[in-house]
Amino acid sequence: MQYSNFDSIGRKISKLGFGLMRLPKLRDGEETIDREEAFRLVDLAIKSGVNYFDTAYVYHGGDSEAFAKEALGRYPRDSYCLATKLPGWVIKEKGKHTEELFNEQLEKCGVDYFDFYLLHAVNRDVMAVFEGDNSYEYLKKQKEAGKIKHLGFSYHGDLEFFIELLDKYEWDFAQLQINYYDWEATDAKSYYKALEERNIPCIIMEPVRGGSLHTLNEDAKKVFEELGDASAASYALRYDLELPAVLTILSGMSTYEQVEDNIKTFTEAKPLTAEEKEAIEKANVLFRQNFAIPCTDCKYCVETCPAGVNIPACFTAYNEYNKTRDTEDFKKEYALIPDEKRAHNCIECGACTKHCPQQIKIPDQLKKVGKLAK
Ligand code: SF4
Ligand code: SF4
Repeated sequence: MQYSNFDSIGRKISKLGFGLMRLPKLRDGEETIDREEAFRLVDLAIKSGVNYFDTAYVYHGGDSEAFAKEALGRYPRDSYCLATKLPGWVIKEKGKHTEELFNEQLEKCGVDYFDFYLLHAVNRDVMAVFEGDNSYEYLKKQKEAGKIKHLGFSYHGDLEFFIELLDKYEWDFAQLQINYYDWEATDAKSYYKALEERNIPCIIMEPVRGGSLHTLNEDAKKVFEELGDASAASYALRYDLELPAVLTILSGMSTYEQVEDNIKTFTEAKPLTAEEKEAIEKANVLFRQNFAIPCTDCKYCVETCPAGVNIPACFTAYNEYNKTRDTEDFKKEYALIPDEKRAHNCIECGACTKHCPQQIKIPDQLKKVGKLAK
């Protein structure tokens, strides 16, 4: 396993971080964690040197933090780092305050401190909610009291506000969506450089863009297949591993095979050759040509929908169709989504759009999906 070793962090952190947001599930379409299988994944990761685990208040319908307690509670507290996040939308929409949420999270995770604590999915609007609740000041005090070791934020807003935030508050780290697609497509490189210039360690989320840089499309996949038998995901991860300011790279692992594959990637840790860099560029161009809806399956929108639409499932089906243009295949996959969760149920209230870190115009895109399904 490769480790980062920042003086400001004060301990070695595995470059592979385990994101506890896409754990194996008991049934497709539900959020119930298959605990037995998920324990196997966590145990393999720990045995292989992973020491960073990332959860959040909202992951797995609110069950991920409790899972972290069960899974990690079987290990000495100082043998792993636990990160979790403060949800701005729960403060805004459920009227809970930072102090109440923070204490609830300590209890749910079964710990008396967090190694890393983040303001979750920050942009201008979300930060206004945190500022209205004096969240930063409260969390700073928790840091002084030893209940938080490192304070940071995950970010999904514009660059100007990101730089404003970096300069307004003191941060120990920040978490960004960086992968070879987003580097240029959403200008991730400028956000990363802003951190690097300020010597702020960067945690990477979505290195494989919710799995889409692994599944890719036939043409893009072929580019990597011609290089050998390494997985497409391994190239995406190695792309991020080249960045020196990276503290850890979070992978939301769902299967035992994914954990094994990622561990292999982070253990062998080979720098990309010129030929591999060229292949990544080529695959990226081919991928971009038919990547229709940039959904990462984060599910932040799901709970907000009064009509119960399974937005990411609709988008996954559409993106698969866009790769093959096979309407019959699309209809078969779409039919697996229960009728009451399909796109036609959308009432265009717009509630979901505010929660989408990828800024997808969800109702418009759902119309497109619904039309194809007719
Ligand atoms: S716009 Fe449609 S999908 Fe979005 S929350 Fe409203 S009903 Fe649900
Ligand atoms: S539509 Fe947006 S919020 Fe919903 S799952 Fe996709 S990326 Fe996440």
